[in-house]
Amino acid sequence: MKGFEYTRPTSVQEAVQLLSAQNARALGGGTDLLGIMKDALLPTDRVVDLKGIQGLDHIKDDSGTLAIGALARLNDIAASSLVAGKAPALAQAASLVASPQIRNMGTLGGNLAQKVRCWYFRDADRTDCYKRNGSYCYAVLGASDLHAVFDGAACFAVHPSDTATALSALDATVVVAGPKGQRTVPIASFFVGPDTDYLRETVLAPDEIITEVRVLLGAPSVFLKAAPRRSIDFARTSVGAQVIGTNVIQTARIALGAVAPTPHRATKAEAFLEGKSLAPDVIAQAAELAADGAKPLASNAYKIPLIKGLVRQALTALSAR
Ligand SMILES: Cc1cc2nc3c(=O)[nH]c(=O)nc-3n(C[C@H](O)[C@H](O)[C@H](O)COP(=O)(O)OP(=O)(O)OC[C@H]3O[C@@H](n4cnc5c(N)ncnc54)[C@H](O)[C@@H]3O)c2cc1C
Ligand code: SF4
Repeated sequence: MKGFEYTRPTSVQEAVQLLSAQNARALGGGTDLLGIMKDALLPTDRVVDLKGIQGLDHIKDDSGTLAIGALARLNDIAASSLVAGKAPALAQAASLVASPQIRNMGTLGGNLAQKVRCWYFRDADRTDCYKRNGSYCYAVLGASDLHAVFDGAACFAVHPSDTATALSALDATVVVAGPKGQRTVPIASFFVGPDTDYLRETVLAPDEIITEVRVLLGAPSVFLKAAPRRSIDFARTSVGAQVIGTNVIQTARIALGAVAPTPHRATKAEAFLEGKSLAPDVIAQAAELAADGAKPLASNAYKIPLIKGLVRQALTALSAR
């Protein structure tokens, strides 16, 4: 691994100041960043280890809002009775990330800010990939099994985070700190697609960090993930869903993971569900609508029936609550 400067700030202000240097990167649990550094996929001259900052690992009910610090570990989120009871989709998503070892180290902030897993991006020799500041997408004419069926443009890598899908369905807010102070970003605006900037996945500036994620507590929600291996694997497709309203749905949110460069809201299905109840025929039509507009590449059309099946299962599970 190429040499780098290791820093361990003790405050958010110090961290963002250290991140203002060129090629400085925040470190949470390191389960993604260290692999990137070992394979020299992105230049890294300074590592800013956030774990020296006290008070960023909380999981608490803040007057009816679930507040989770960016350094909260995925295992702690999965095991929290507060999260399981009041925001079950997030607890389910955290429990399905990778393996127990990675969930023990991996933080919520790192999970949301992780880089894409496209196998060409992760291949050290594929230096011409757009995401590595090159001018080519290897997936368009290559193996596109893991890639986007919605919203690809130049780059077709999907967003790999399971918690991002769940938090999109829960309409979370991301609290971000930078040199000018703190700002809050609705999760629907937090992720950036390649049509905006293919070099990054989020709105975070290089000297900004996530400090907290906030979710309004209460309505039923669910997260489901399809992955070839149960022990440890990224989603091929996932769904987070939440419905608000007792007999008649007032608001429905359906977020699809691993099918687009950002968590993809199935807006046609959501609009169709409003004012209806979750009867089997309604669920079946919503599942069809969730895949509307998908444009598969050469080898990822299998994601379309996966989307429909997972949405049907998720809504059926919610109808039983
Ligand atoms: C084998 C393997 C399997 C995996 N499987 C899954 C999976 O199934 N589902 C899934 O969702 N993920 C998966 N991951 C991805 C990921 O490593 C973990 O999910 C983990 O949550 C990342 O968190 P971390 O704290 O270790 O991040 P780090 O590696 O520390 O950081 C990841 C990125 O986020 C940035 N970052 C870290 N913290 C912050 C912050 N507070 N603010 C701003 N930026 C920050 C870093 O600079 C870096 O770019 C897997 C990883 C591996 C190696
Ligand atoms: S999909 Fe994106 S990350 Fe993968 S090769 Fe194409 S440009 Fe690179």
